[in-house]
Order: sequence, then structure tokens, then C-alpha cells
Amino acid sequence: MPAPKQIAILGSTGSIGTQALEVVEQFPQKFRASLLTAHTRADLLIAQALKFRPEAVVIASEEKYLQVKNALAGSGVAVHAGRQALEELVEMPGIDTVLTALVGFAGLRPTLRAIAAGKAIALANKETLVVAGALVTALARQQGVPILPVDSEHSALFQCLVGEAHNPIEKIYLTASGGPFRGYSYEQLRQVTPAQALKHPNWEMGAKITIDSASMMNKGLEVIEAKWLFDLRPEQIEVIVHPQSIIHSVVQFTDGSMKAQMGLPDMKLPIQYALAYPHRLANTFARFSFLEYPSLTFETVDTTVFKNLKLAYHAMQAGGNMPCILNAANEVSNRLFRQGKISFVAMAELNEAAMQALDHHPAPALEDLIQADAASRAFVLKAAKVKV
Ligand code: NAD
Ligand code: MG
Repeated sequence: MPAPKQIAILGSTGSIGTQALEVVEQFPQKFRASLLTAHTRADLLIAQALKFRPEAVVIASEEKYLQVKNALAGSGVAVHAGRQALEELVEMPGIDTVLTALVGFAGLRPTLRAIAAGKAIALANKETLVVAGALVTALARQQGVPILPVDSEHSALFQCLVGEAHNPIEKIYLTASGGPFRGYSYEQLRQVTPAQALKHPNWEMGAKITIDSASMMNKGLEVIEAKWLFDLRPEQIEVIVHPQSIIHSVVQFTDGSMKAQMGLPDMKLPIQYALAYPHRLANTFARFSFLEYPSLTFETVDTTVFKNLKLAYHAMQAGGNMPCILNAANEVSNRLFRQGKISFVAMAELNEAAMQALDHHPAPALEDLIQADAASRAFVLKAAKVKV
């Protein structure tokens, strides 16, 4: 039997990270968690390290270093802290696959470093492809490393495309649950609270993506993610609301034939698929039953209400640094909404204002993206008149 695949989990304490560790635990002969990283949740990182005995852990927040170091003294697990360490440790020899399960722009540099070091990427951190899809996919091609999608829709598309390398895609349908505010008018949307927005009907996820799902920004980011993963033009990507979240996405080929991937909504499946690719591993996850879901339904998205989706298409069409500007604006507006500092609809208003205000750069290098990210964040904070 081959040695277990060595996995680095960036963001092991989050929703995707903890579910990835459940997958690792189920298949000890297949996977070994060699590197675990977290932002601030030292207690959980320590518990994970004691259980999984990785070679190393990184706590990004430096003030938690001593706590983690002391707790893991004598355990054989090396302890590092800080952003720099996070970027360096992804290059650790022996690591085969880096699962990027951290949130936001913070994932970009570690992902680029991992690709440059020849590691396969299991990509949950969609923001990285949104802000720097051109750089990331070019580097991955150059290094000959795969980017294996973890996002359920993109995993679905990826699975539909197995064996279809020579067959052009006519279009894809990305499915969306519609979130907790499906069918709301703009007036209704003005009144919603963070607590309401944090209740997703079908998925349990981290706070940022849950708000993005409620505001349709998540689907907008996923449209851009799909463009880069599957080399599509904007007009080939369509979003369709499917409230049951059973059909995870659909590929339509040039003969009109459509392939869909379906199953119960459970992120462990796409995580497992990305880690085990190209194999499918037998598991005991709950199975879908047709008779429990006698009707699967579909609707369009009203982008005059859910404006973020339209903004994402505009950003994708403009290209260059525009998706980066949108993503950064959204990271800030999303946080301000969660903190109760702005209304739900103000998120899309601020995102749009940032896209209009900041300079478009058609072919940004990494430094330009870092600068656009910072400028967009500063713009939104100022426009929202919020003190940090
Ligand atoms: P989460 O908030 O539950 O967890 C985030 C993890 O990243 C935590 O371990 C945290 O410590 C770490 N982290 C956060 N900010 C960091 C920083 N600045 N530096 C270093 N580490 C940091 O988030 P999540 O829901 O697991 O989502 C993770 C990523 O996966 C996001 O990009 C999200 O869009 C994507 N995704 C999530 C789901 C889901 O079901 N949760 C589904 C599809 C895609
Ligand atoms: Mg998704």
C-alpha cells in the first residue's frame, strides 16, 4: 500500500478545516495531516495537534504563540507563528497537497508559495482565484500542479468533466440555494439583521461565507472562480437558484447534453474527492433518496435585489484588478455588516462604490493586487464612515 498522502490544512480550525480533519480521521491509511494552521483559535489548534500529531502547526496570530508552544511542548509537533511562517511552511518537503481553507485575500500568498513549491492545491479559498485567477492559474500550469476544487459547485463541475477533456463546454449552470432571503424585495432586504443572515437553510459554514451566501456575493465569487477553473467566458456561466441544494451544478456540452452531479449537501464529499482525486473512497455519509425529495425546483435570481451578483459579472468582464477591488470591498463590507455597523443592502452599495472609485489596472502583477486590495479596503472604511 502506498504511503499516506501528506496534507497541509490551512485554516484547520474553520468549517472546512474541521470537516477535512474528519475525512483524514476516517482514512488514516490514505491521508496524514502534516501541517495544521489557524488564525486565532489556539485551543482548538492545540487539541487538533495533540490528536493528529502533525509535523508542525502555525498560529497566524503571534500573541497566541507561547500558549500553543507551551501546550505542545514535548509532543514532537513544531510550533510556528505569524503570517511569514504560514507562507514558508506550505513549502515543507513531504507535503503532497495543500488544502486552502482559510478565508479571504489572506489565502493568496500561501497558495502562490505552495504552487511554486509544486504542491497540489485543494482549493476551498475561492477568494484567491477571484483576486488573482490569472496569476494563480498561470503559475499552476507552469508548475504542472493541479488545482482541485473543494467548493461544492466547482467540485460538481469538475466531476462532470472527468473523461470529457476533448469535449468543449457550451455553458455551465452554477446552482445557488438562494439563501435565507430568497424571494425578498429590496425593501425587505433593507431590514434584515446579522442574526437572520447567519442562518443558512442548507449549509453550516463560516460566518463570512454565510453572509456572502445571503447576499449572493458568494455566487458572484463562484462565477469568477468557475471562469478561472474551467477557462470559461462570462456568457458561458449561468446561475440558477435551486433551493434544495441537491444538484450541485451542471455542465452543458456542445451537443446539448447536460451532466449534473448531485447528492445531499455535505462538504465532506467534495473535500474527500479533492483529497483522494482521482479516486473515490467508500464512505458511510448519508445517501440521497429521490422519494424524500420528490420535487427539485429552479428559479432565476433577481439581480435588481441581489446586486452583488451583477457586480461580480461586471468585475469579471472588466477583468484585471477589478475582481480584486470587489473582493476587498466585500471583505470589509461583509465584516461591517456582521458587526452591526452597516445595513445588509449597504454591502452591495459600498462594493459598487469601490468598483467605481478605484483605478482599473488591466494586467496587474502581485504587487498591484496587494495595492488594489489595500486601497479598496481603505475606501470602504472611509465611505462607510466607520472608525477602525
Ligand atoms: P471559517 O471562518 O469557518 O474558517 C476559516 C479558517 O481560516 C479558520 O481556521 C481560521 O483560523 C483561518 N483564518 C481566517 N483568517 C485567517 C488569516 N487572516 N490568516 C490565517 N488563517 C486565517 O471559514 P470556512 O467556512 O471554513 O471557509 C474557508 C474557505 O472555504 C472560504 O474561502 C470559503 O469561501 C470557502 N468555502 C467554504 C465552504 C463551507 O462550507 N464552509 C464551502 C465552500 C467554500
Ligand atoms: Mg459553493
